[in-house]
Amino acid sequence: MVIRDTVLLGDPRLREIADPIYDYEKELRPVLEDLKDTLTEHQRLYKMGRGLAAPQIGHNKRVVYVQTEAFTGYLVNPSIVYKSPETFDVWDSCFSMNAEFFVKIPRHRRIKIKYTDQFSEFHNDTFTDDLSELMQHEIDHLDGIVCSDHLTNMQNIAMRAEWEKRYRVKGVGM
Ligand SMILES: [Zn+2]
Repeated sequence: MVIRDTVLLGDPRLREIADPIYDYEKELRPVLEDLKDTLTEHQRLYKMGRGLAAPQIGHNKRVVYVQTEAFTGYLVNPSIVYKSPETFDVWDSCFSMNAEFFVKIPRHRRIKIKYTDQFSEFHNDTFTDDLSELMQHEIDHLDGIVCSDHLTNMQNIAMRAEWEKRYRVKGVGM
């Protein structure tokens, strides 16, 4: 079991464009276990969080791990091929912010993603609502984008304690 340190906002590594996985055997294997172990530990510690992207734990690779009741699995080399014009506002935060503050930002209601799983099997899936905003959050990390980059109104920021009191709803982006 390997728990990796989280790369925090302000660290330039969080802003890099991650590299695609070419060699599933050599490049992917070390990333898979680290993502799963670290997310599972974070979920225990923070009592929140549904996904983690490899760059957040220091692997500059295009791999995302999501662990929720509705969907658990790895997305390798994911690419969003469709975004619904309809958006919705979500309160989002991030392990790379230690979930110390939350931002209310717009996300696409429905997206379609092409990706492979860890066995290099191809998938083409549609995600809506909670899973849609989660996937957008995690895939953003592969392009050096964090949720606070999507703020359209700088007043839509809340510290965690205030968010817990006022706005907490089921599921946040992270
Ligand atoms: Zn994040």
